[in-house]
Amino acid sequence: MSEKVVAVQDAWRQGAHVDDAKYQEMYRASVSDPDGFWGEHGRRIDWMTPFTKVKDTSFAPGNVSIKWFDDGKTNVAYNCIDRHLETRGDQTAIIWEGDDPNESRHITYRELHAQVCRMANVLRNRGVSKGDRVTIYLPMIPEAAYAMLACARLGAIHSIVFGGFSPDSLAARIQGCEAKVVITADEGLRGGRKVPLKANVDAAIGRLPKDAVDHVIVVRRTGGSVAMEPGRDVYYHEAAEQVTDACPAEAVEAEHPLFILYTSGSTGQPKGVVHTTGGYLVYAAMTHEYVFDYREGDVYWCTADVGWVTGHSYIVYGPLANGATTLMFEGIPTYPTNARFWEVIDKHKVNIFYTAPTAIRSLMGAGEGPVKTTSRASLRVLGSVGEPINPEAWDWYYRVVGDSRCPIVDTWWQTETGGILITPLPGATALKPGSATRPFFGVQPVMVDAEGKEIAGPCEGNLCIKDSWPGQMRTVYGDHERFEQTYFSTYPNLYFTGDGARRDADGFYWITGRVDDVINVSGHRMGTAEVESSLVAHAKVAEAAVVGFPHNVKGQGIYAYVTLNEGEEGDEALRKELVAWVRKDIGPIASPDLIQFAPGLPKTRSGKIMRRILRKIAEDDFSTLGDTSTLADPAVVDDLIENRQNRA
Ligand code: ATP
Ligand code: MG
Repeated sequence: MSEKVVAVQDAWRQGAHVDDAKYQEMYRASVSDPDGFWGEHGRRIDWMTPFTKVKDTSFAPGNVSIKWFDDGKTNVAYNCIDRHLETRGDQTAIIWEGDDPNESRHITYRELHAQVCRMANVLRNRGVSKGDRVTIYLPMIPEAAYAMLACARLGAIHSIVFGGFSPDSLAARIQGCEAKVVITADEGLRGGRKVPLKANVDAAIGRLPKDAVDHVIVVRRTGGSVAMEPGRDVYYHEAAEQVTDACPAEAVEAEHPLFILYTSGSTGQPKGVVHTTGGYLVYAAMTHEYVFDYREGDVYWCTADVGWVTGHSYIVYGPLANGATTLMFEGIPTYPTNARFWEVIDKHKVNIFYTAPTAIRSLMGAGEGPVKTTSRASLRVLGSVGEPINPEAWDWYYRVVGDSRCPIVDTWWQTETGGILITPLPGATALKPGSATRPFFGVQPVMVDAEGKEIAGPCEGNLCIKDSWPGQMRTVYGDHERFEQTYFSTYPNLYFTGDGARRDADGFYWITGRVDDVINVSGHRMGTAEVESSLVAHAKVAEAAVVGFPHNVKGQGIYAYVTLNEGEEGDEALRKELVAWVRKDIGPIASPDLIQFAPGLPKTRSGKIMRRILRKIAEDDFSTLGDTSTLADPAVVDDLIENRQNRA
């Protein structure tokens, strides 16, 4: 595997929040005296009742309890909006870029305040108060941010369901948290295509017990005609006319839940992850500032959807708490053309750009042409999240998109962690393509072996975190036992991430994928990410997913699903070529036994490959594929089964 090092450039250090020495100093302080460190940084947000306690956490078996700033009171919407009004009321808070390139809008902090108050009043009029759950099923329109902040303003708990989820997934998530109110839109618009959101809500509610949902609030997006049930459904613009744009922000306890978010479900049944108020906001805001080296006046763009945790922490809460200008994009990277991302960067003079490896890889397939039609001169920092980024994709992102000028922060974290845990900092950390590098302040990664023994120095093992950080999830909604069982029972007194990692001689971390994805070929343990990176490095390959399958001789064999670049044809000769390629790159042990050329891979809505489905197909056992409702395009599964290579 390549281990290229990209040193910190002088320009990255200039004006940066931290350089390497400062990182070391702050990191040491954060782990040697968490109370002192977070006591200080906890004051980056405004408190209505200041906290006197800082950290009160235990990972002890049977007694897992996580509290930060416990006796303080605050309000997230107040911190994201009201406190900025005096100094930046006329500054743009949200730049909205529509699906149609001719549609965009700037919303100032003052406008945001009025809109959020109105939405909060609409909810309050429908009986929503502190602690009530509200399901949000909206496209990427400003109303999605208004709805989140309106809930926060009232102390209500939002649960966002990605706008592409099916009625079944939506129904399960409405029922899971017993939401009485659903906020949706008539239709969504993505890549020029309409998404029937309101119709999906109707179908979802139809599967629930009668009267499960009291109110459905419908934002008009496309103006398409939808069924409205009298007494239950109301158009938002009509309800909003009936209320004022003033609504006080409710002071809530630091540990009052802010939101519930179901994980993407790539490993199994989604879990209702609960995040609370104070610690979450402090951590989201602080990581947003340091990781992206956010500076006053920057235009910041995270391409995630608000239905994903990245959208919560790094489109809405972190940036707005910092008084930033955050860009919200309704569309997709390939509409109307493959140059859309780069054109939006030029149009809005984006300084910080944060996206996912899956997007990079798909755009890479279209070549450098579409990128090079744009200037991208405004860019200063690039970010990546969601999966390990293959060195090949990293290099393209760095060289082609960033013109070798911009650092890439490869940010490792999870829905459960609330914010980024392992990442480079632009002015401080040398970059190694494919490595998430070093822990953020307050984060203590430890590597353990299969027996749970902590291992020191350079090694490979299971990634755990030793102590709590303020953004950590507090429980699984309604099931604290499942919380303990899932994250704290495998290795007592440690938070188990479920990910495997390698730590190199510099103490840098390389995420190798889910522990479940490690395959054992003739006694050699191998992360699937490594084989995938090798395949993707081949000029004809756009994407690859590797899983194990039972093999008579080797124990496990390697089964590779390969998506080729546009215009390439998969045949026997190319199969041989790819096997030889991997063999030469990594070694004979890693050569794929079976290669299936697949036009598409099963992905979650957040763009992650759902390997458990690929494993089933590779095992020639696809009768029980489990829950596939969270897939972006369930149809790809049929093609994969049809063309499977391992037929028992
Ligand atoms: P579920 O937990 O339901 O299976 P999920 O794990 O896909 O779903 P997320 O919380 O969205 O849901 O994803 C977190 C996971 O994504 C991490 O555990 C890790 O495997 C992967 N990941 C995220 N960022 C990175 C990164 N920068 N490098 C490597 N892996 C990453
Ligand atoms: Mg997970």
